[in-house]
Amino acid sequence: EPDGREWSYREFFDLVGRSATVLSEQGVAPGDRVALQATKSTVALAVYIACAQTGAVFLPLNTAYTEAEIDYFLDDSGATLFICNPQTETVLAEKPAELSTGNAKRRVLSLDGQGGGSFEALLESASVLQAVTSRTPHDLAAILYTSGTTGRSKGAMLSQQNLASNTEVLVDYWQFTGADVLLHALPIYHTHGLFVASNLVLATGATMLFHASFNVDAVLADLPAATTMMGVPTFYTRLLADSRFDRKLASHMRLFTSGSAPMLLETHIEFEQRTGQRILERYGMTETGMLTSNPYHDERKPGTVGLPLPGVQLRLGSDEQSGETGAESAEPEKTSAGQPETTIGMIEVKGPNVFSGYWQMPKKTAEEFQGDGFFITGDLGTIDEQGYVTIIGRNKDLIITGGFNVYPKEIELLVDEVDGVSESAVVGLPHADFGEAVTAVVVLEKGISGAAIEDSIQQHLEAKLAKFKQPKKVVVLDELPRNSMGKVQKNLLRKEYDGLYS
Ligand code: AMP
Repeated sequence: EPDGREWSYREFFDLVGRSATVLSEQGVAPGDRVALQATKSTVALAVYIACAQTGAVFLPLNTAYTEAEIDYFLDDSGATLFICNPQTETVLAEKPAELSTGNAKRRVLSLDGQGGGSFEALLESASVLQAVTSRTPHDLAAILYTSGTTGRSKGAMLSQQNLASNTEVLVDYWQFTGADVLLHALPIYHTHGLFVASNLVLATGATMLFHASFNVDAVLADLPAATTMMGVPTFYTRLLADSRFDRKLASHMRLFTSGSAPMLLETHIEFEQRTGQRILERYGMTETGMLTSNPYHDERKPGTVGLPLPGVQLRLGSDEQSGETGAESAEPEKTSAGQPETTIGMIEVKGPNVFSGYWQMPKKTAEEFQGDGFFITGDLGTIDEQGYVTIIGRNKDLIITGGFNVYPKEIELLVDEVDGVSESAVVGLPHADFGEAVTAVVVLEKGISGAAIEDSIQQHLEAKLAKFKQPKKVVVLDELPRNSMGKVQKNLLRKEYDGLYS
């Protein structure tokens, strides 16, 4: 832990067993939801495993959620116990009337990870529960609310089998063993840090260096003791921005993985030049766990998210929301040079890792599955002749301008090539003539002035892209808005620049 505290597996499972006793004493029964919104700590992780032990359904919540959002999650899930930070507990205690409207039986306890919360006070005197409640593969293990950008956030129901199968596959695919030491700087309210990272470590008896968050100094200090690190792309760009991060610091590491957001090709290349190693990029989502991964031994192709994992069936359906499926329904486009482009389609998946549906939303669930059980991910992608998958973007980010479909990724890749551009996000903004106008939002490299960049971009794209795909305007920003997993929040850009063409 960041404060230097070390936990052996015996101590950790002792903590889990005592947490399980507290859950039972609070009346939590198998199938009940236990919501947790707390600062990252070993105790918080123990609550997750205590839920697994007692058959409760774990419901982790992003620490950034506001009180109003929390109200929605607690009411929607009908959680019987809410474990939060001590400050939140105080706020909630002051308004018992509102609390009791949702679920009169709901209990609230707190933990701060340092022994200062009411949950931790109960842990002190709790005995270590040894019994493990048996569960079937289809029983729920967790509900994770998706960070929906439109409409209500949906609770993805993950079963014991969903989590167990994905863990088993990844342990094997990425060759995790008890000798591994994972540098863990991800949040534990999200599938990446909670399931991918923590489950792999706990399943193999590996060691975890548990960081409160990603702090470049702390990460650089701990790298020599680690064998592997899982990150979101921003971890790697921050490491590369630090000259202390060099080949020597990385040479003993057996694996760096990246996912949760697209990694720029440039980052892959720079990382390999700096360290001699290739980041292993993989792709997954809350609803499905991990779906594809670049291989451990064979070629890792930068810019792709690799091959479908064993047991995962992946296909390209139609990118229209007409319900048509089959790769053949997505017409290959032609470039100006007359070369057929690769088929772009909506990624659809099936496998033991794929969730069964959204909590209490049967209609929404039915809309997102095909009749033959494939889940429609909402991600557009291509598959090359060797089976490697490339993510082109989210369906909702697709731009329709003058009736033509434009995939932002195609334009972003070219804009990123322009001298002086560090990164870009291409969005469609309301436009009277075109419906949507292709707009490039760019971040410039240090010391570059924005004055001439629009011309440079236009010049670079002129010969390479059809006119309708070329940005009508370029907006320069200091940085792109990102969420805690490093995803660019295009919805915020669309909102901010809504009136750019009016
Ligand atoms: P979440 O449910 O928060 O994990 O978000 C899942 C979404 O993140 C996916 O549907 C993709 O759009 C995106 N994503 C995850 N991994 C990658 C990746 N390696 N490259 C591009 N997008 C990714």
